Amino acid sequence: MRIAEQVTFGGSGLDRAAELRGNEDVLRFARGAGTSRCIVLWRGNPLLDGGDAPALARLPMDHPLLAIGDEVPILLGRDEDGLIFGQDISAWRPEGAPVHDAGPGRRHEVELPKHPEQDEGHLFGELRVIMAQLTPRDAELAATAKAVYSWHESHRFCARCGSHSRMVMAGWQRHCDDCGGQHFPRTDPVVIMLITHGNDVLLGRSPGWPAGMYSLLAGFVEPGETIEAAVRREVMEETRVPVGPVSYLASQPWAFPASLMIGCRGEATGREIDIDPVELEQAFWLPREEMAEVFAGEHPAIKAPRRGAIAEFLLRNWLADRLE
Ligand SMILES: [Zn+2]
Repeated sequence: MRIAEQVTFGGSGLDRAAELRGNEDVLRFARGAGTSRCIVLWRGNPLLDGGDAPALARLPMDHPLLAIGDEVPILLGRDEDGLIFGQDISAWRPEGAPVHDAGPGRRHEVELPKHPEQDEGHLFGELRVIMAQLTPRDAELAATAKAVYSWHESHRFCARCGSHSRMVMAGWQRHCDDCGGQHFPRTDPVVIMLITHGNDVLLGRSPGWPAGMYSLLAGFVEPGETIEAAVRREVMEETRVPVGPVSYLASQPWAFPASLMIGCRGEATGREIDIDPVELEQAFWLPREEMAEVFAGEHPAIKAPRRGAIAEFLLRNWLADRLE
């Protein structure tokens, strides 16, 4: 798919300056340098600069908010102005704060809190809500920092010996001093598939989704499995629909919390649907003409998919005949 990288979180060509990750002297200097800047996350929500369009706040390295973090800021990359770091300040626990993550298709119902050290106009924003409005660079920085910090949060102990591990390599590794174990940030591959049969596309909804929300089928790739096999297996398990040829379309890093969405197209070789009620509440074939109504906001039962998610990107481009 020629326009694959135009998907939200499709990348901005960020120079990740990986050669500096192990150079503690350079990093120590850069963490105090006037040319370095830092983005901030609180429980996965990035700090925004409060302008008309959502944009990440880039703070100087001596900003008091950065000192709230449990560790030194991690290195995200480098642009024409200098190094860019990320800091997690989830250690800040304001009263009445929202739950950690509102879940698929949902939004926090209360306003995100404001820290007394926040600059005038700066505010925390929910990445799921603003993701499609960020520049590709800001989207890549926010998604990268969120994914890396989610990993640190859930991997504080060595998976080999159970001892406490520590962050090294500017945030891109954890090291266990007891057994020498080295641990790297994980990314979980997920297939998400545009399954077509003639003029129709296969849609489904999981139990508990908000009313009117439908999407493409998706599932984790299992150990020992190819992408193509995962597509066929997931569709068979969830709907009993047999799938023939499978091709790759586009991928999307999805930091909720640590997936890589692998968008594929598959051609069904049969139409009969028999859903697995544990995984799905409903699945059906939707003709292209009706999908056009969905995107126009005119369908009586189905809401337009959320902009920014790869399902929306694949469906929109299928409608426009731009999958090549
Ligand atoms: Zn260990």
